[in-house]
Amino acid sequence: NQFEALPLAAPLQRVLRELNYTTPSPIQAQAIPILLEGRDLLGCAQTGTGKTASFALPILHAINERPKQVKPRQCRTLVLAPTRELAGQVGKSFSTYGAHIRFKQTLIYGGVGQNPQVSAMRGGVDVLVATPGRLIDLIEQRAVDLSGVEFFVLDEVDRMLDMGFARDVKKIVSLLPPYRQSLFFSATLAPTIVELAHTILRNPSRVTI
Ligand code: AMP
Repeated sequence: NQFEALPLAAPLQRVLRELNYTTPSPIQAQAIPILLEGRDLLGCAQTGTGKTASFALPILHAINERPKQVKPRQCRTLVLAPTRELAGQVGKSFSTYGAHIRFKQTLIYGGVGQNPQVSAMRGGVDVLVATPGRLIDLIEQRAVDLSGVEFFVLDEVDRMLDMGFARDVKKIVSLLPPYRQSLFFSATLAPTIVELAHTILRNPSRVTI
């Protein structure tokens, strides 16, 4: 049960060695093989469990294996996070784990000017990490186009719902293409959360730690 045994691309194996990550955490050991197969995932895990690498590594692997010119204003990966701080942490993790991979990423969140975010999206990005409210503002202004999303991650869904983002999340989901890989993470799996998950995921594997 070592990272070396997982079929992750060489630039990811290299960064894992540099970070001195030898053994996948329980969520990583369970989620990474499922995600590398292209399946949807319903994950029950808190922060501090290695949840971010469990989705960032397989997504970066796919981007590395299938590099693609992204169209203007589009993103191949959309990660939704409830707060600016969490979005920033996820973005930082993608930068760390993707240190030896050629990819573009950006962040979109509220409370700051829109213009730099609009500019950053102009050429398209491989990975967009966003909070729901500001993302909808930029979609309505045609600065972001979700029609090219291949990987969709909802992180910390319980917090997202506590913060009143249910409507925004549903609206964003309605703009995604039907063929995509979707990942849904929550610290709790109350019935309303599982119900929402099943409107978004297709035949998901469930992982609980
Ligand atoms: P996360 O739950 O994704 O926020 O990760 C929690 C912390 O654990 C982060 O600081 C990671 O850098 C670290 N981490 C994640 N996976 C591993 C691993 N397999 N081995 C060692 N450290 C890890």
